Amino acid sequence: MTTARTRVVVIGGGQAGLAAGYYLRRAGLEYMILDDQPAAGGSWRDHWPSLHLFSPAAHSRLPGWPMSPSSQEFPPGSHVVGYLSAYEQRYELPVRRPVSVTAVRRNGSGYRIDTTAGSWSAEAVINATGTWSRPFWPTYPGMRSFRGRQIHTAQYDGPGTVTGRRVAVVGGGNSAAQILAEISTFADTLWFTTRPPRFLPDDVDGRVLFDVATRRARALAAGDDTGGVAGLGDVVMVPSVRDARDRGALRARTMFAALTTDGVVTDDGGVERIDAVVWCTGFRPALRHLRPLHLPTADGGIAMDGLHAAGEPTMVFLGYGDWTGPASATLIGVGRTARYAVEHLTSTLT
Ligand code: FAD
Repeated sequence: MTTARTRVVVIGGGQAGLAAGYYLRRAGLEYMILDDQPAAGGSWRDHWPSLHLFSPAAHSRLPGWPMSPSSQEFPPGSHVVGYLSAYEQRYELPVRRPVSVTAVRRNGSGYRIDTTAGSWSAEAVINATGTWSRPFWPTYPGMRSFRGRQIHTAQYDGPGTVTGRRVAVVGGGNSAAQILAEISTFADTLWFTTRPPRFLPDDVDGRVLFDVATRRARALAAGDDTGGVAGLGDVVMVPSVRDARDRGALRARTMFAALTTDGVVTDDGGVERIDAVVWCTGFRPALRHLRPLHLPTADGGIAMDGLHAAGEPTMVFLGYGDWTGPASATLIGVGRTARYAVEHLTSTLT
């Protein structure tokens, strides 16, 4: 198979990859976006059907073009899929699908990108593969002997299979709160969190989280680690979560100590019978394709210098979380980081 050539390969065609494409196009750099999904939308295509954004449409936009208004204050995930699909077409972003990148290797001063549809060579790589394909499952004693159903947020597709059951929901963030809110109208639920969940006031939404994340990142960069009043993990009181609170379904308990064959051992030594566990315990960056590079690590992740890997100025990371720019894992936040990333590549490659 032949090797195709371009200057920059963007791996991942979700919101982060598209934001990068927007700025690469403006900069006039030749590039290609490789995405392993069959259609546009990134991980938003796979989120559970009832998921709603935690910000209004006007505050959930990529660079250059606002998201169209939705009939609901907090648009459903399907609205984002439509927006990303139209965004891609509007800017004629060169996305190849479905193409899965299997390995990235050094190749002279650039990289060779091996995929399920042949190889590419490029001077620079922007990794925008998100986290959805790497769900994080914590380990608890008894997990393997539990005979009920265990699923992760990534597999949740609605309350159908747990209707009428007794379900433990684990996790204190927005996913857990929204999934708990939904399941609790169909099943008996218990909510377990490792720290007490922090609820935002009813009139505060994701806009504020974005502003706080930005201020916090700037303060940290300036050496001020005094914390903040809210973080992206804080629970936004979207209508379904407010409704669950009003029904008394949002009572969190200290994380259980272990599972048994048909229940959990609570922190005070009691036993609760349950039929299923939904682990809303987060995700990790999808970076397996970079293994051949043996990138230097720090604090359990990749050692970074700004937005690129330390010592590797043309290996850029985008959209994974605050370590790739404040609020860069949000629709409204990723544009700013994408702009910095492309500015960096423009000056490095020329
Ligand atoms: P993704 O959307 O995951 O896109 C990455 C793409 O790369 C995918 O298509 C993936 O399949 C592909 N890919 C992965 N590996 C490879 C490979 N090796 N080769 C080729 N392609 C590959 N943000 C908000 O702003 N507002 C919200 O309300 C909000 N709610 C959220 C609710 C949930 C439940 C979750 C999980 C996230 C939410 N977020 C929200 C956060 C954020 O917007 C999403 O996580 C977002 O999808 C991240 O975009 P991304 O482009 O970085 O990754």
